[in-house]
Amino acid sequence: MKRIITIGILGLLFFASNVTVTVAQEPTKPEETEIWEPKPKVVIVDPETKIPSDAIVLFDGANFDEWISVIDSTEVKWVLNNDGSMTVKDKTGDIQTKRNFGSVQLHIEWRSSLENTGSNQSKSNSGVFLQKRYEVQVLDNNNNDTYVNGQVGSIYKQSIPLAKASAPTGDWNVYDIIYHAPEFDSKGNKTKSATITVLHNNVLIQDHVTIKGTTEYIGWPKNTPHGKAPLMLQDHGDNSGVSYRNIWVRELN
Ligand code: MG
Repeated sequence: MKRIITIGILGLLFFASNVTVTVAQEPTKPEETEIWEPKPKVVIVDPETKIPSDAIVLFDGANFDEWISVIDSTEVKWVLNNDGSMTVKDKTGDIQTKRNFGSVQLHIEWRSSLENTGSNQSKSNSGVFLQKRYEVQVLDNNNNDTYVNGQVGSIYKQSIPLAKASAPTGDWNVYDIIYHAPEFDSKGNKTKSATITVLHNNVLIQDHVTIKGTTEYIGWPKNTPHGKAPLMLQDHGDNSGVSYRNIWVRELN
Protein backbone atom coordinates (compact mmCIF):
# COMPACT_ATOMS: atom_id res chain seq x y z
CA MET A 1 0.00 0.00 0.00
CA LYS A 2 2.79 2.43 0.95
CA ARG A 3 4.51 1.83 -2.41
CA ILE A 4 1.32 2.51 -4.37
CA ILE A 5 0.81 5.84 -2.60
CA THR A 6 4.42 6.80 -3.26
CA ILE A 7 4.06 5.99 -6.98
CA GLY A 8 0.80 7.96 -7.07
CA ILE A 9 2.42 11.06 -5.58
CA LEU A 10 5.36 10.76 -7.96
CA GLY A 11 2.89 10.49 -10.87
CA LEU A 12 1.06 13.61 -9.78
CA LEU A 13 4.31 15.51 -9.46
CA PHE A 14 5.31 14.36 -12.97
CA PHE A 15 1.91 15.43 -14.36
CA ALA A 16 2.04 18.79 -12.62
CA SER A 17 5.53 19.47 -13.94
CA ASN A 18 4.26 19.10 -17.52
CA VAL A 19 1.16 21.30 -17.24
CA THR A 20 1.39 24.97 -18.07
CA VAL A 21 -1.11 27.00 -16.12
CA THR A 22 -1.80 30.46 -17.51
CA VAL A 23 -2.79 32.97 -14.90
CA ALA A 24 -4.13 36.31 -16.16
CA GLN A 25 -1.83 39.00 -14.93
CA GLU A 26 -3.50 42.01 -13.41
CA PRO A 27 -2.48 45.02 -15.54
CA THR A 28 -0.02 47.28 -13.83
CA LYS A 29 -0.07 50.15 -16.34
CA PRO A 30 -3.05 52.11 -17.74
CA GLU A 31 -1.81 51.51 -21.33
CA GLU A 32 -2.41 47.75 -20.99
CA THR A 33 -6.21 48.24 -21.04
CA GLU A 34 -6.31 50.91 -23.77
CA ILE A 35 -7.71 50.08 -27.25
CA TRP A 36 -6.86 52.44 -30.13
CA GLU A 37 -8.33 50.69 -33.20
CA PRO A 38 -10.69 50.69 -34.99
CA LYS A 39 -11.54 54.34 -34.61
CA PRO A 40 -15.29 55.17 -34.60
CA LYS A 41 -16.39 57.15 -37.65
CA VAL A 42 -16.78 60.87 -37.24
CA VAL A 43 -20.36 62.19 -37.30
CA ILE A 44 -20.99 65.92 -37.33
CA VAL A 45 -24.34 67.21 -36.08
CA ASP A 46 -25.59 70.27 -37.94
CA PRO A 47 -25.79 73.06 -35.36
CA GLU A 48 -29.05 74.39 -36.82
CA THR A 49 -31.02 71.35 -37.96
CA LYS A 50 -29.48 68.97 -35.39
CA ILE A 51 -29.31 66.33 -38.14
CA PRO A 52 -26.25 64.02 -38.01
CA SER A 53 -24.03 64.09 -41.09
CA ASP A 54 -24.56 60.39 -41.83
CA ALA A 55 -28.35 60.56 -41.64
CA ILE A 56 -30.69 60.06 -44.59
CA VAL A 57 -33.19 62.91 -44.60
CA LEU A 58 -36.58 61.42 -45.45
CA PHE A 59 -38.60 64.59 -45.12
CA ASP A 60 -37.52 68.20 -44.66
CA GLY A 61 -40.69 69.90 -45.84
CA ALA A 62 -39.54 70.52 -49.40
CA ASN A 63 -41.20 67.60 -51.21
CA PHE A 64 -42.34 63.96 -51.06
CA ASP A 65 -39.40 62.69 -53.12
CA GLU A 66 -38.54 59.93 -50.62
CA TRP A 67 -42.16 58.68 -50.35
CA ILE A 68 -44.89 56.89 -52.28
CA SER A 69 -48.49 55.99 -51.60
CA VAL A 70 -48.93 52.46 -50.24
CA ILE A 71 -52.23 51.86 -52.05
CA ASP A 72 -50.93 52.13 -55.60
CA SER A 73 -47.23 53.00 -55.34
CA THR A 74 -47.87 56.35 -57.05
CA GLU A 75 -47.24 59.84 -55.73
CA VAL A 76 -48.22 60.78 -52.18
CA LYS A 77 -51.67 62.42 -51.85
CA TRP A 78 -51.05 63.89 -48.40
CA VAL A 79 -50.85 67.67 -47.94
CA LEU A 80 -47.48 69.40 -48.22
CA ASN A 81 -47.72 72.46 -45.97
CA ASN A 82 -45.69 75.64 -46.30
CA ASP A 83 -44.30 75.41 -42.76
CA GLY A 84 -42.03 72.41 -43.42
CA SER A 85 -44.60 69.80 -42.47
CA MET A 86 -47.01 67.37 -44.13
CA THR A 87 -50.53 66.44 -43.04
CA VAL A 88 -52.42 63.19 -43.52
CA LYS A 89 -55.08 63.62 -46.22
CA ASP A 90 -57.95 61.52 -45.02
CA LYS A 91 -58.65 58.22 -46.78
CA THR A 92 -55.83 58.62 -49.30
CA GLY A 93 -54.01 55.77 -47.58
CA ASP A 94 -50.75 55.15 -45.79
CA ILE A 95 -47.46 56.38 -47.22
CA GLN A 96 -44.13 54.59 -47.23
CA THR A 97 -40.52 55.36 -48.01
CA LYS A 98 -39.11 54.36 -51.39
CA ARG A 99 -36.07 53.01 -49.57
CA ASN A 100 -35.97 49.84 -47.52
CA PHE A 101 -34.44 49.78 -44.07
CA GLY A 102 -33.25 47.25 -41.51
CA SER A 103 -32.07 48.41 -38.11
CA VAL A 104 -32.25 52.16 -37.70
CA GLN A 105 -32.07 55.19 -35.49
CA LEU A 106 -35.14 57.22 -36.45
CA HIS A 107 -36.06 60.80 -35.62
CA ILE A 108 -39.60 61.91 -36.45
CA GLU A 109 -41.80 64.75 -35.24
CA TRP A 110 -45.59 64.69 -35.23
CA ARG A 111 -48.47 66.92 -34.22
CA SER A 112 -52.06 66.10 -33.29
CA SER A 113 -54.87 68.22 -34.71
CA LEU A 114 -56.66 70.96 -32.76
CA GLU A 115 -59.70 70.40 -34.96
CA ASN A 116 -60.00 66.69 -34.16
CA THR A 117 -62.90 66.15 -31.75
CA GLY A 118 -62.80 62.34 -31.79
CA SER A 119 -62.33 60.11 -28.79
CA ASN A 120 -60.69 56.84 -27.78
CA GLN A 121 -58.79 55.54 -30.86
CA SER A 122 -60.31 58.16 -33.16
CA LYS A 123 -58.50 61.26 -31.87
CA SER A 124 -55.56 62.08 -34.14
CA ASN A 125 -54.68 58.44 -34.70
CA SER A 126 -51.73 57.73 -36.95
CA GLY A 127 -48.66 55.57 -36.53
CA VAL A 128 -45.00 55.07 -37.32
CA PHE A 129 -44.47 51.59 -38.73
CA LEU A 130 -40.96 50.17 -38.68
CA GLN A 131 -40.37 47.87 -41.64
CA LYS A 132 -44.03 48.41 -42.60
CA ARG A 133 -45.08 45.98 -39.86
CA TYR A 134 -44.36 47.20 -36.35
CA GLU A 135 -46.34 50.23 -35.16
CA VAL A 136 -45.34 52.87 -32.66
CA GLN A 137 -48.71 54.44 -31.96
CA VAL A 138 -49.41 58.09 -32.68
CA LEU A 139 -52.53 59.29 -30.87
CA ASP A 140 -53.90 62.30 -29.00
CA ASN A 141 -54.45 60.95 -25.49
CA ASN A 142 -54.79 64.35 -23.85
CA ASN A 143 -58.08 64.12 -21.93
CA ASN A 144 -58.75 61.03 -23.97
CA ASP A 145 -58.27 57.58 -22.46
CA THR A 146 -58.01 54.40 -24.46
CA TYR A 147 -56.70 50.89 -23.85
CA VAL A 148 -53.16 51.43 -22.57
CA ASN A 149 -51.50 48.98 -24.94
CA GLY A 150 -52.89 51.12 -27.76
CA GLN A 151 -52.24 54.58 -26.33
CA VAL A 152 -49.72 57.09 -27.59
CA GLY A 153 -46.22 55.63 -27.60
CA SER A 154 -47.36 52.03 -27.28
CA ILE A 155 -46.02 49.29 -29.46
CA TYR A 156 -49.53 48.69 -30.67
CA LYS A 157 -51.28 45.90 -28.73
CA GLN A 158 -47.90 44.67 -27.44
CA SER A 159 -46.14 47.07 -25.10
CA ILE A 160 -47.62 49.73 -22.81
CA PRO A 161 -45.42 52.87 -22.74
CA LEU A 162 -43.54 53.56 -19.50
CA ALA A 163 -44.96 57.09 -19.43
CA LYS A 164 -47.30 59.43 -21.28
CA ALA A 165 -45.08 62.29 -22.34
CA SER A 166 -47.40 64.01 -24.82
CA ALA A 167 -47.10 67.64 -25.79
CA PRO A 168 -50.32 69.67 -25.51
CA THR A 169 -52.76 68.99 -28.35
CA GLY A 170 -51.62 70.89 -31.43
CA ASP A 171 -47.97 71.15 -30.32
CA TRP A 172 -45.14 69.17 -31.86
CA ASN A 173 -44.03 65.84 -30.39
CA VAL A 174 -40.72 64.10 -31.03
CA TYR A 175 -40.09 60.39 -31.28
CA ASP A 176 -36.48 59.18 -31.22
CA ILE A 177 -36.44 55.48 -31.94
CA ILE A 178 -33.71 52.84 -31.85
CA TYR A 179 -34.91 49.79 -33.74
CA HIS A 180 -33.15 46.49 -34.36
CA ALA A 181 -34.72 44.35 -37.06
CA PRO A 182 -35.63 40.69 -36.53
CA GLU A 183 -33.62 37.91 -38.14
CA PHE A 184 -34.89 34.74 -39.83
CA ASP A 185 -33.11 31.59 -40.94
CA SER A 186 -33.34 30.03 -44.41
CA LYS A 187 -36.36 27.98 -43.33
CA GLY A 188 -38.24 31.10 -42.32
CA ASN A 189 -37.93 30.61 -38.58
CA LYS A 190 -37.31 33.73 -36.53
CA THR A 191 -33.87 33.41 -34.95
CA LYS A 192 -33.78 36.86 -33.34
CA SER A 193 -36.67 39.10 -32.33
CA ALA A 194 -36.81 42.77 -33.19
CA THR A 195 -36.19 45.19 -30.33
CA ILE A 196 -37.18 48.80 -29.94
CA THR A 197 -36.36 51.73 -27.70
CA VAL A 198 -38.45 54.90 -27.91
CA LEU A 199 -37.94 58.36 -26.45
CA HIS A 200 -41.03 60.57 -26.53
CA ASN A 201 -40.13 64.23 -26.09
CA ASN A 202 -36.84 63.06 -24.49
CA VAL A 203 -38.66 60.71 -22.07
CA LEU A 204 -37.87 56.99 -22.25
CA ILE A 205 -41.17 55.24 -22.96
CA GLN A 206 -40.06 51.92 -24.51
CA ASP A 207 -36.89 50.45 -23.02
CA HIS A 208 -35.31 47.89 -25.35
CA VAL A 209 -38.63 46.11 -25.75
CA THR A 210 -38.84 42.82 -27.63
CA ILE A 211 -41.31 42.98 -30.51
CA LYS A 212 -43.34 39.79 -30.65
CA GLY A 213 -44.32 40.11 -34.31
CA THR A 214 -46.62 42.27 -36.41
CA THR A 215 -48.78 44.75 -34.49
CA GLU A 216 -52.23 43.49 -35.39
CA TYR A 217 -55.53 45.32 -34.80
CA ILE A 218 -57.24 41.93 -34.42
CA GLY A 219 -55.41 38.77 -33.45
CA TRP A 220 -51.94 37.81 -32.29
CA PRO A 221 -48.58 38.97 -33.70
CA LYS A 222 -47.43 37.23 -36.85
CA ASN A 223 -43.87 36.39 -37.88
CA THR A 224 -43.67 35.95 -41.61
CA PRO A 225 -39.98 36.24 -42.58
CA HIS A 226 -38.87 39.45 -44.24
CA GLY A 227 -35.80 41.44 -45.15
CA LYS A 228 -35.31 45.18 -45.27
CA ALA A 229 -38.58 47.06 -45.71
CA PRO A 230 -39.94 50.62 -45.88
CA LEU A 231 -40.83 52.97 -43.09
CA MET A 232 -44.59 53.62 -43.20
CA LEU A 233 -46.85 56.37 -41.82
CA GLN A 234 -50.51 55.64 -41.20
CA ASP A 235 -53.68 57.22 -42.54
CA HIS A 236 -56.10 55.85 -39.96
CA GLY A 237 -59.05 56.88 -42.14
CA ASP A 238 -60.99 58.91 -39.58
CA ASN A 239 -59.92 62.45 -40.42
CA SER A 240 -56.97 62.39 -38.03
CA GLY A 241 -55.40 65.66 -39.18
CA VAL A 242 -52.01 64.45 -37.91
CA SER A 243 -48.95 66.22 -39.28
CA TYR A 244 -45.32 65.14 -39.55
CA ARG A 245 -42.05 66.97 -40.04
CA ASN A 246 -38.26 66.65 -39.76
CA ILE A 247 -37.87 62.92 -40.46
CA TRP A 248 -34.38 61.46 -40.68
CA VAL A 249 -32.87 58.06 -40.21
CA ARG A 250 -29.44 56.57 -39.54
CA GLU A 251 -28.92 53.03 -40.75
CA LEU A 252 -27.47 50.72 -38.11
CA ASN A 253 -26.57 47.83 -40.41
MG1 MG B 1 -52.29 54.10 -35.24
